[in-house]
Amino acid sequence: MTAGKTEIDTLVVGAGQAGVAMSEHLSRLGIPHLVLERNRIAEAWRSGRWDSLVANGPAWHDRFPGLEFDDLSPDGFAPKERVADYFEAYARKFKAPIRTGVDVRKVERNVGRPGFTVETSDGVIEANRVVVATGPFQHPVIPAIAPKDERLTQIHSAQYRNPQQLPEGAVLVVGAGSSGTQIADELQRAGRQVYLSVGQHDRPPRAYRNRDFCWWLGVLGEWDQAAMKPGREHVTIAVSGAHGGRTVDFRELAQRGMKLVGVTRGFNDGVVSFQPDLADNLARGDENYLAVLDAADAYIERNGLDLPLEPEARRVFPDPECMSTPILELDLAKAGITTVIWATGFATDYSWLKVDAFDAKGKPLHQRGVSTESGIYFLGLPWQSRRGSSFIWGVWHDAKYVADHIAIQRTYLEYRDAAQRQAAQTVAPVSATQGHPVVTA
Ligand SMILES: Cc1cc2nc3c(=O)[nH]c(=O)nc-3n(C[C@H](O)[C@H](O)[C@H](O)COP(=O)(O)OP(=O)(O)OC[C@H]3O[C@@H](n4cnc5c(N)ncnc54)[C@H](O)[C@@H]3O)c2cc1C
Repeated sequence: MTAGKTEIDTLVVGAGQAGVAMSEHLSRLGIPHLVLERNRIAEAWRSGRWDSLVANGPAWHDRFPGLEFDDLSPDGFAPKERVADYFEAYARKFKAPIRTGVDVRKVERNVGRPGFTVETSDGVIEANRVVVATGPFQHPVIPAIAPKDERLTQIHSAQYRNPQQLPEGAVLVVGAGSSGTQIADELQRAGRQVYLSVGQHDRPPRAYRNRDFCWWLGVLGEWDQAAMKPGREHVTIAVSGAHGGRTVDFRELAQRGMKLVGVTRGFNDGVVSFQPDLADNLARGDENYLAVLDAADAYIERNGLDLPLEPEARRVFPDPECMSTPILELDLAKAGITTVIWATGFATDYSWLKVDAFDAKGKPLHQRGVSTESGIYFLGLPWQSRRGSSFIWGVWHDAKYVADHIAIQRTYLEYRDAAQRQAAQTVAPVSATQGHPVVTA
């Protein structure tokens, strides 16, 4: 691409897993397209996550249909760099037209003519349609309760790399979804005193009766749930592929010395306070855990499967002291806490997308990724079509749906009435632009 103007049928913004999947489906349908990525392919898996992170799902599950992790056991968990390599290899496999190092700065609908004008760090592009594949987790969110206290080191989970990066002392990890739980576990194993603030969560067993929870959620139809159950918008999922993949069990963490606390309420004068909801939150997590075991047992029985019994999965560690005598306040200095890690989630930023495709809160308005603004598509959104949408295996299927929609729209737009067809016969036919550049840096 030069500083001049490029024309393309479909422009995909972002080359994480969503952009790569989108490109594969567009290529299969012969739709001319270009993918622009401001960093490198699957950058989030390289520089956006902590050093020891492995995929949450096993290698047989957390992948696209067209390529296996051939160097890993199907039941193993791919290290984060390996996941990034996987997507690079995948893009090479079908010569994905990806240009890296190009930032998309503005997308605007054309006035009085179809399509969009796209400003990038490498010139202007005219595109008939734009697929926004910029990720579900773009900007770290730290809640407003974070104190302004220079004695404390405060980072978001997105900035955490390893225990050595933190100053000496105890650590408060706020948020016990997959990130918070894994980071807290790693810090504790490194010898730190860790306080973990636990909110509402789901806590499926890592595996049960010889099947990973990814398998169970699949056969039980959980990944296909179309929408979040009301009231569960803030429920995180605590799972981990670390150490070969183990069930997250908060009582076990407490038995190893981790101090569990409820939802972090606020900070005042060097004192942090917590809601008295730890026991409730753990009880609901247990309910979720047991519900998966029960549903799995019922599924096995109904289908007459020969999978070994696992009664020990129902063994419960004793309640730790921090449950019976909850910590509701903590003097940070007295507890020796020098660091707070905010594992509190992410927000998106569509400020560059100057189109009418958002609700009052700035959330994309769409149906399965097809925006209310015609010609704009989203991919990789949480719950885009179902629970699995923002995950590796799920985004591939959503990309297929979006690509099909684009293909259908193109057939409408290619329609010519009789007069137009006749006029076209009198002039030489123009061949469709199929130009597919290859992956470039
Ligand atoms: C800690 C963590 C662990 C996870 N582990 C798993 C897991 O084990 N299994 C699983 O299935 N899912 C996992 N996920 C969820 C999900 O798979 C990842 O978040 C994944 O990175 C999402 O892929 P994506 O392509 O949608 O977005 P991203 O990977 O974020 O890719 C979007 C890309 O768009 C680019 N971009 C953004 N804006 C622009 C712009 N204006 N111009 C050009 N480029 C732009 C970015 O540079 C980025 O590379 C995890 C998420 C997190 C946060």
